[in-house]
Amino acid sequence: MQRIRELDERYVASTYRRQPLTLVKGQGMFVEDIQGKRYLDFVGGIAVCSLGHCHPALTKAISTQAKKLMHVSNLYYIQPQAELAALLSRVVPKGIDKFFFCNSGAEAIEGAFKLAIKHTRRQRIITMRGSFHGRTAATVGATWKSSYREPFEAIIPKIFDFVPFDDLAAVERAMGEQTAAVIVEPIQGEGGVNVPSNDYLPGLRKLCDEHNVLLICDEVQTGMGRTGKWFACEHWGVEPDELTMAKALGGGFPIGCLGARAEVMNSFSPGDHASTFGGNPLACATAKAVIKTMTRLKLPQRAAKIGVYFKKRLDELTDKHGCVREVRGLGLMLAMEISNKQIADAAVAEARDRGFLINCTADKVLRFIPPLIVERKHIDRLIGVLDEILTEVEK
Ligand SMILES: *Cc1c(COP(=O)(O)O)cnc(C)c1O
Repeated sequence: MQRIRELDERYVASTYRRQPLTLVKGQGMFVEDIQGKRYLDFVGGIAVCSLGHCHPALTKAISTQAKKLMHVSNLYYIQPQAELAALLSRVVPKGIDKFFFCNSGAEAIEGAFKLAIKHTRRQRIITMRGSFHGRTAATVGATWKSSYREPFEAIIPKIFDFVPFDDLAAVERAMGEQTAAVIVEPIQGEGGVNVPSNDYLPGLRKLCDEHNVLLICDEVQTGMGRTGKWFACEHWGVEPDELTMAKALGGGFPIGCLGARAEVMNSFSPGDHASTFGGNPLACATAKAVIKTMTRLKLPQRAAKIGVYFKKRLDELTDKHGCVREVRGLGLMLAMEISNKQIADAAVAEARDRGFLINCTADKVLRFIPPLIVERKHIDRLIGVLDEILTEVEK
């Protein structure tokens, strides 16, 4: 542990505030540190490892494809890429029927902005307060947190209009002649697991239709079954024009994807957009295995069901502990807002000591985004430990 820490501090960019932990192995719901201590994982690499760690279907897909063909250029047809697109078309919301593959969430969203601007020939994008869309120049520009943006103003495009989340009137006021698209996370992730009112997404769809503006749903975090449906916008029956995916799409293998209605995607012509690694055989074979396994195990439905149980158990803690402000979320994207940051940070550290990985976002929101294979017994163990921890910190 000490050696890795020294190497990291000496040679790795200090962009991350690291917890004192080196994870070296994983299996199902568990990860193991370099000293051999095991942890129940409610972070899942931040909503990435939805099949759990080292799922045999993924390990097999990766090793089989790695022996066959790892990479070729997009100058040629790529078999697993075409097959992945066809598979995806069956699980995404209706209307989304063409796909561009890349390597991360931010890249998918950069592509979404380029496509919206090219398709509409307009220049501005409406985005939400509390949003998170990534760290590249355009996506950090669409991200609410000013500390992420301010040092880099010089390279951030000045095309974003911020409006409060869950406020349709504000979106209507912000719509202008140059508005190309509205981007929204159906449930805000980094912003603190914020679930909008039931009329919000349908209202956005209607406003976009009225103004001939594209609706981009950023489902990088909420997608792939996380909230109890394949994609969160389905909870409100909303069909976006563009859909961005990444995180759980590769189950731990880096891959991102922009989906769009064919009519919109066809505004991209050869040469308009590209990525060397995007859609490479290894990444696509892995994502194919993710979708097939999720379908076989009915993981979206499972997330819906076990999420109800998890939320109920968290609600019990709300009633018991004064420092818990609110429990919210959908499926297996759940959060518990704590009255202050010190208590929230202490809870994360204390849980870690006791063998549980949980995450804190938006200063004081404990976020639970476990693999979708999580079982009741794992949830019960976490609740027991959280109950003890909250009792102690409140003393
Ligand atoms: C994580 C995330 C991103 C950024 O994805 P990266 O792969 O880190 O670039 C974008 N949007 C949302 C909603 C996210 O949760």
